Formats: sequence, structure tokens, C-alpha cells
Amino acid sequence: MIPAAKDKTLFTPGPLTTSLDVKQAMLRDAGSWHFEFNAKVKAIRERLLDLAGVSQAEGFECVLLQGSGTFGVESVFSSAIPESGKVLVLANGAYGERMVAMLECLRIDHSIYRTPEDTPPDPSAIAGLLAEDARITHVAMVHCETTTGIMNPIEAVGQVVAKSGRQFIVDAMSSFAGVEIDFKQACIDFLITSANKCIEGVPGFSIVLLRRSCLESNPTQPRCLSLDLMAQLKGFEKNGQFRYSPPTHSLLAFERALEELEMEGGVAGRSQRYQENHRVLMEGMRALGFRSYLPDACQSYLITSFHFPRDDRFTFDVFYRHLSERGMIIYPGKISQVDLFRIGSIGRLFVADMQALVAAIEATLKELEMVP
Ligand SMILES: *Cc1c(COP(=O)(O)O)cnc(C)c1O
Repeated sequence: MIPAAKDKTLFTPGPLTTSLDVKQAMLRDAGSWHFEFNAKVKAIRERLLDLAGVSQAEGFECVLLQGSGTFGVESVFSSAIPESGKVLVLANGAYGERMVAMLECLRIDHSIYRTPEDTPPDPSAIAGLLAEDARITHVAMVHCETTTGIMNPIEAVGQVVAKSGRQFIVDAMSSFAGVEIDFKQACIDFLITSANKCIEGVPGFSIVLLRRSCLESNPTQPRCLSLDLMAQLKGFEKNGQFRYSPPTHSLLAFERALEELEMEGGVAGRSQRYQENHRVLMEGMRALGFRSYLPDACQSYLITSFHFPRDDRFTFDVFYRHLSERGMIIYPGKISQVDLFRIGSIGRLFVADMQALVAAIEATLKELEMVP
């Protein structure tokens, strides 16, 4: 077996560094139609509802869906928006724009409220947009926009959306389980996350937590067979199974990842560790002279974007390769107007890892004879 120590540490927005136990949990062949496996799937769905602080008694369901997080977001649009529906998308980064691309593909009517990549949407502006356009049935937004690491205000927006009688869709891919999310405060009807972000599992499926009545109230035919959320839910209810081949190994890893999350003290414990990671990263990078991109007020503790050093000779590629040789993987920036790189504080990372990264960045700059 390849020793885990050989893997490079991933300071990325996901897939993330996972624990050895999570990886080892995958070294099994599970019978995908077998009752033991079905029981695990059922338990996982229940634990996810618990984690979200909602229950079936309150009308919530958890649907697991094969594929990466994007598949989960697309499944909500393709399953939940009626023929006559219209979605208002709040966008301030690539994942908001990906929602727009999905709606274009699915030929779903939509409008877009864009704010700059370093600016959260303004809830009162949204109230205005909803008052102006009675055709809007749903509002969709990204919680932590992983493009930059900005935290968007889902609670303030959700209350505006609920007050106006619309349904609220939240892409919480990179925040769920790493940040406390109050479903009721934020009036969330659909939340999408995936196995390989803050729950620290491996890739393989997405997770949709949804208010059942919102799905049932859609009279329209689903737009896609494999991404049909209601059919997927009914499949679980009928015989405990995924409709098509389940990602058996990722589910076994996920079961272990949920145990580790519990051992860490749930979302409260995990968010503490991530906040510590982020604090150490920020202090270290600022001490080296780096500038972060976002205003502190909307900077998440999950992902941080830093400006390139001012030195004209700096290239991300060379910087990246030097860090990779030291066993550390960072991420390029994702916005066009400013040159940035990104560092994640999430995954199986601890303060010592963040300190090691800062030290490696310092050593790399020395090698390259650069100052930030
Ligand atoms: C990771 C991520 C996604 C999904 O990306 P996949 O590559 O499809 O898993 C969607 N939205 C946000 C905000 C993300 O961070």
C-alpha cells in the first residue's frame, strides 16, 4: 500500500486532504443491492439531516446523487423549477455563473443580479427585484463563493426570499459542515453540498437537502432522467437503493468521514479547527507581506485569495512547482481582473500544516529572491 505520508498536502478548495482512516474505509467491496449496504445509505441520509438540524417530521428529505457537486445543483434546477418558473440568480463568482450556465442549458427563464467578486449581494436590492418581477419563483445563490472565498449572507437573503413567498436554493458546497448553517433562520428550501468538501470524504456524490413539499409542488415533468430528484428520493424510499450504480466506495469512506466529524465535535468543532487554520494562515502570510484580496468583513475562514507578489518576475507556475516539490498543493486564482492565488484551510489540515505551508512559501520566495 502507498503510505499516506507520501501524498502531498492539499491546500485547495476540494477535493481535499482526507484522513488515512477515511481512505482505508474504501478498501472494501460492498454489494450495492445488499441490505447491509442499503442500511448504511439510510443511516447516512439520516445523519445528514441531523447535521443540518432539520428532520423528516419538519418536511425535509436528504437525497444523495451520483456525480460531483455540480450534478447536485443541476438536479435541483432540472427537478424543482416548473415550466412557468423563473429563477433569480445572485452571482459574484464562477459558481454563481455556473448556475446561470445550467439555466441556459435547461432553457429555464432566469434573471441575474451580479455584484463584483469582492462584494456580497444586498438583501434590500433583492427585495426590490422580487417586488418588480412577479414571475420569479425561485432565488438561487452560493453561500461561500469558492472563486474568491467570499461569504454571502444567506440568512438575510433567505428572509427576504421567504417573505416574498419565493423558494430559496443555496449552493453550500464549500461551507456545509465547516460553517454553522441555520436552515430555519435562512429559510432554505434546497441546499446542495458534496461528499468531498467540509465533510472530508472522497469525491463521488452530491447531497441535496430539500423541503419535500417544494419538490412535490412542481407539476412539471422533470427535465432530466438521471438527475430527477423526486425519482431518486422515491427510489430510496421504495427499496433503499440508488436508482443507478451507487458510488459504493465513496459511501463507505463517507460513513467514516461522518464518524470523524462527530468525534471532532460536529460542525462546531470542525469550524473551530478551520478558523484556527485560517488565523494562522492569515497571520503568517501577512507577516511575509502578502495581501489578501477580500475585505475582512466578507472573508470566509474556508478559502483565502492572495494577491501575487508585486515583483514582475513572479509567475504562479514557478511558485506552484516550488511548493509542490515541498509537498504542498495550492490553487490558482479564478477571476480575470486581478492576479490571485488561493489557499484552502479545509480538509484534514491542522495548524501545523498551515505553519508548514507558510514556512514553505517563505523559503520559496527566498529561493526565487522575491519579496511579496
Ligand atoms: C466545489 C464547488 C461546486 C461543485 O464543484 P464540483 O467540481 O462539481 O464538485 C459548486 N459550488 C461551489 C461553491 C463549490 O465550491
